[in-house]
Amino acid sequence: MSNLRFKAVEDAFKKKAALISVPEQVTSEYYGKYVFNKEQMAKYLSKETLEVLTEVVEKGKTLDRELANHVAAGMKMWAIERGATHYTHWFQPLTGGTAEKHDSFIEYTGAQGSPVIEEFSGKLLAQQEPDASSFPSGGIRNTFEARGYTAWDPSSPAFIVDDTLCIPTVFISYTGEALDYKTPLLKSLNAIDKAATDVCKYFDSSVKKVISYLGWEQEYFLVDDGLYATRPDLMLTGRTLLGHESAKNQQLEDHYFGAIPTRVQAYMKDLEFEGYKFGIPLKTRHNEVAPNQFELAPIYGETNLSVDQNLLIMSIMKKIARRHGFRLLLHEKPFAGVNGSGKHNNWSLGTDTGVGLLTPGKTPEENLQFITFVVNILAAIYKNNALLKASVMTAQNAHRLGANEAPPAIISVFLGSQISAVLDKLENSTSEQAIVIDSKQKMKLGVAKIPEVLLDNTDRNRTSPFAFTGNRFEFRAVGSSANCASGMIVLNSIVAAQLVEFKATVDSKIASGSSKEKAIFDVLKEYIKESKPIRFDGNGYSKEWKIEAENRGLNSETSVPVIIDAYTTPESIKLFESIGVLSKRELHARNEVKWETYTKKIQIEARVLGDLTLNHIIPVATKYQSLLLDNVYKLYQVYDKEKANKLSAHNTAIIEEISERISIIKSKTEEMVEARKIANRIDDERKKAIEYHDKVLPFFDEIRYNVDKLELIVDDELWTLPKYRELLFIR
Ligand code: ADP
Ligand code: MG
Repeated sequence: MSNLRFKAVEDAFKKKAALISVPEQVTSEYYGKYVFNKEQMAKYLSKETLEVLTEVVEKGKTLDRELANHVAAGMKMWAIERGATHYTHWFQPLTGGTAEKHDSFIEYTGAQGSPVIEEFSGKLLAQQEPDASSFPSGGIRNTFEARGYTAWDPSSPAFIVDDTLCIPTVFISYTGEALDYKTPLLKSLNAIDKAATDVCKYFDSSVKKVISYLGWEQEYFLVDDGLYATRPDLMLTGRTLLGHESAKNQQLEDHYFGAIPTRVQAYMKDLEFEGYKFGIPLKTRHNEVAPNQFELAPIYGETNLSVDQNLLIMSIMKKIARRHGFRLLLHEKPFAGVNGSGKHNNWSLGTDTGVGLLTPGKTPEENLQFITFVVNILAAIYKNNALLKASVMTAQNAHRLGANEAPPAIISVFLGSQISAVLDKLENSTSEQAIVIDSKQKMKLGVAKIPEVLLDNTDRNRTSPFAFTGNRFEFRAVGSSANCASGMIVLNSIVAAQLVEFKATVDSKIASGSSKEKAIFDVLKEYIKESKPIRFDGNGYSKEWKIEAENRGLNSETSVPVIIDAYTTPESIKLFESIGVLSKRELHARNEVKWETYTKKIQIEARVLGDLTLNHIIPVATKYQSLLLDNVYKLYQVYDKEKANKLSAHNTAIIEEISERISIIKSKTEEMVEARKIANRIDDERKKAIEYHDKVLPFFDEIRYNVDKLELIVDDELWTLPKYRELLFIR
């Protein structure tokens, strides 16, 4: 049997790091070269156009055709000078990733066949109608119009990839419903801006805008491309469905922050060079916990832009990986038994006056404002913990959340001992104690020395899905392949709705005669009491926590299709509608897409698993068994029965084990196919997804267990699939 595995392993071993031609310039010289950012706009747009455009972006003014024409003209000139021949509306369909359809700039100058010129009007910039019918819509478009259109998002700058000008856009149905992630994200950012600004005004009347910030940390795996090509499961599902653990994996903890392998180092350099050209402020790179696992993180930025940059870098990462003889794995759990990949979303809020609302302040006013936001965030997450979990739950991420690894499938908030102490003190103080009005009529917190204490906030908890880390919250449950927008839509929405409620309650207390300070304190105290169950600083990985969390009434559901129901509870619908982020119809439609996607993912995995067991594993194991049988047979030819019995005992045991395991694998694979057939007959997308989760998925582990045992006994020379020890250690 020709064994491609050995050839691939040998080739991978020989590969050297690609030579990277170090750019002659310093980073700042080529940084943002391919982005139509403010500096470029200043060169290609008239002063008036730039001013109006800035108003559109910053104050949400409507965009008129004339402005669009002016911008389009400048953008076209900028793009053509940089080698662009095509343009595309770049959007974020619900399938994940990004979508684009390229059109050339050329148009005939006159009649058919006349010379061409490059054309790009405001109309083409502002709106396009891609053939939307092949993108998932959860049935929205079927009911009304078959058309959807993309519309320019001027708050995220256009950029050039290769020869194409990419224009970030929203994607909506003809009847106005969102078919993408960007539309509700922009609405949620608007909602949090409004709600948070209103609350800030209690403390500082000059605040006009609150900005949501996101700093993502992107984890990923690299695997040699030759080895990848011999693993159908990696190729078709992004993860290994089979494979026994390597004798050494991450137990020595020698990979994390260790020296980066030279082949990978070359990849990272190249990646950063490319990323900088797109103005992505990449800041850190390092090895992660698992072998072959790495991380990349930029400096945080405004959430909409940061989301777009993450999507762009994910596609650049894929491309650059191939240049270096790698394949990029963004799957949340490509290898069993070693850590999976997440995408920590560091999130904070800041004002246009430059105050970080999650940064403990220097003055008592700032601190009360800080505490107000922290407490409202706690309340929002407490009430909507199931929904927040739903925002990051997918078939892939389920292998991290609530499976054998953290973060758990329970959302809790880590605050650290100091802030917890402040909240406890606040909760137990009377308002009179808590507020001291000093001689200058300034409000003071009666809680001693918060600024000094908080500055020393260094405690970290790596097991919490949502942790306070000094000036921001780190949402760690997000999956590595996810669009950050999904989690950010929910997070910003629930906090916005919570702040609206807070403001209404405080205002009504003021209206009935309470002082502003007392009203704020009374409401915060109430919230602190109410939302206590969400606070957890202990070990989120422990079994005890799961039991305790259930006692506290936190959602601990682990079935993805069921978790998704959290989007369409009456409370969630009311919440999203009240702040104008998503309508009931949109929420239902989006869930349909999620169930459908879930089903398809499990279906594909089940098919690949069946192929592998029937076409790789069973034939190889049978072949080895024949060799053993041959040996046993010959022993009986050479020796007398008693001696042959003795000499063949070992091989006979293996022969029997192989038969037993093959028989289990075969019957389980057949049962799995039957279960799939039953599930496929269900029309209701939710019920079908649940059936796949409950009835098809459980076969995976059973089958895998037996295959992995076979891997341990079958002759290494015959085994066709690269093993974990070969896949996981890049030299
Ligand atoms: P960690 O210790 O969690 O690995 P890193 O230094 O890798 O931290 O940074 C995590 C991310 O958090 C970076 O993208 C960083 O820019 C971002 N970040 C820092 N401060 C804030 C903030 N106030 N708001 C949002 N993101 C932030
Ligand atoms: Mg982090």
